[in-house]
Amino acid sequence: MVKYIFVVGGVMSGVGKGTTVASIAKILQSKGVPVTAVKIDPYLNVDAGTMNPTEHGEVFVTEDGDETDQDIGNYERFLDQNILSTNYMTTGRVYRAVIEKERALGYGGKCVEAVPHIPEEIIRRLNIAARKTKAKVVVVEIGGTVGEYQNLLFIEAGRMLKLKHPSDVVFILVSFLPVPAKIGEMKTKPTQTAAHLLNSAGVQPDFIIGRSNQPIDIPRKRKLATFCGVREEDVISAPDVTNIYEIPLNFERDGLGSKILKKLKIKSQTKDLKSWKRLTTKIKGFKKEVKIAIVGKYFKSGDFTFSDSYISLIEALKHAAWAQNLKPILSWIDSTEFEKSKTKLKELKNYDGILIPGGFGERGVEGKISAVHFARVNKIPYLGICYGMQMAVIEFARNVLKLKGANTKEINPKTPHPVIDLIPEQLRHLAKNHFGGTMRLGAYPCHLKDKSLAQKAYAKFKIKTPIKERHRHRYEFNNKYRIAFEKKGALFSGLSPKGALVEIFELADHPFFLGTQFHPEFKSRPLFPHPIYFSFIKAASKKRIVK
Ligand code: GLN
Repeated sequence: MVKYIFVVGGVMSGVGKGTTVASIAKILQSKGVPVTAVKIDPYLNVDAGTMNPTEHGEVFVTEDGDETDQDIGNYERFLDQNILSTNYMTTGRVYRAVIEKERALGYGGKCVEAVPHIPEEIIRRLNIAARKTKAKVVVVEIGGTVGEYQNLLFIEAGRMLKLKHPSDVVFILVSFLPVPAKIGEMKTKPTQTAAHLLNSAGVQPDFIIGRSNQPIDIPRKRKLATFCGVREEDVISAPDVTNIYEIPLNFERDGLGSKILKKLKIKSQTKDLKSWKRLTTKIKGFKKEVKIAIVGKYFKSGDFTFSDSYISLIEALKHAAWAQNLKPILSWIDSTEFEKSKTKLKELKNYDGILIPGGFGERGVEGKISAVHFARVNKIPYLGICYGMQMAVIEFARNVLKLKGANTKEINPKTPHPVIDLIPEQLRHLAKNHFGGTMRLGAYPCHLKDKSLAQKAYAKFKIKTPIKERHRHRYEFNNKYRIAFEKKGALFSGLSPKGALVEIFELADHPFFLGTQFHPEFKSRPLFPHPIYFSFIKAASKKRIVK
């Protein structure tokens, strides 16, 4: 029997449930238990591809082309495992499957009901995830917080499983413990209420993980134990950390891994987290900085600035910097600022490298193109990811090839020079309004040109051509312009098999100028930085700030 750990949130969202799940899975993995993690998004959306990144965070693309929640990225990075689409579900996906089964007479004339048919479908999917990954333990993150309507049937699925197999299922409540400044004391009441809400759904938590800005002291652990019906030693502290990769080590200090395994009656081996420990300790000592400007637009949500929309990219930059004993200093620059003031552009001189991430739509595009221009003429290392690569192509077309008004058809369908265009298959999707899950998604092979910047970057990590990288886009470089570009010094160093599609664009007369149509950040891991990010950071670290 596969064992399940259900992780549910209490009090409020955004307290790091995803990294908690990834950390629990990591410590079990370090004890030799075959483990995987599943993310449940309670939204009706069928996938995360149609959700706005400023509302829902990054869309993480799996190797098999699913558009998932950013937490899947955390699982990949912590477990050093490719997580596939079977490990992700949404309410939309579950309901769709049940309705399709009903239409195919799959319920044999029965009345199909929310309970038990929806939880049964959820359990079926969890079993598939376990089977596909050969996991003995599946850590399941139920999105949202207890008390919402949206995740109730997922909690019910866990309750049904626990009723059938009491010693194979564990429930963990991850809850927030505020320390209001005016009161100056950690308050446990919101968490008590969360535990009671979970009780009213028929579930008693086995553990409470308390997220706060400081560790939980003994009196408050006791209080939580008494009022939530959990043993005192099963109330675990999860204080804020400066580096998320420290969380598994913190949990281990509280013996969380062994306590979970004891409840699940699994014998553990004595492996440990040595290399992980070494990395987290090493990071603290880095003094030499590398300053990177990230020029994008998904930073603002009302009055707040947040960077969740680019989480994989941020982590990839960190991994690459750490591997070179550097402290990454990352700055968010809204590209619309460059459209408002040209002097703002000059501030880019203060950075060692400029990066333009993936994106969609018109807002901020001209600002991004100005930033590429600045990086190219001032010889500042430049990395363009997906839209960032397309921006570099447009900039080159306009300023080197002198193609006035060159653009992507995404922005100007009537441009005289569509250097970035749709492929016919995409035209068909768009004509039918088929937007969900129809981009070029997932891993595709790419052949590298010998002795190019890209080929050298991969060769350093002993990765041979063809490489395989993950995509998420509709538009491509327009091949009608290939020869004109090459004549002016552009190098298309990465091409799809048979050379049909341009995957990498680079320039030779520059310290580092490279754009990828794919998203290398999805494959970066804390102990295995991605070659493209590594070589970008290497070039940036050599740059002397221009006066
Ligand atoms: N909007 C562009 C496209 O669809 C780029 C997408 C991206 O950056 N992920 O091709």
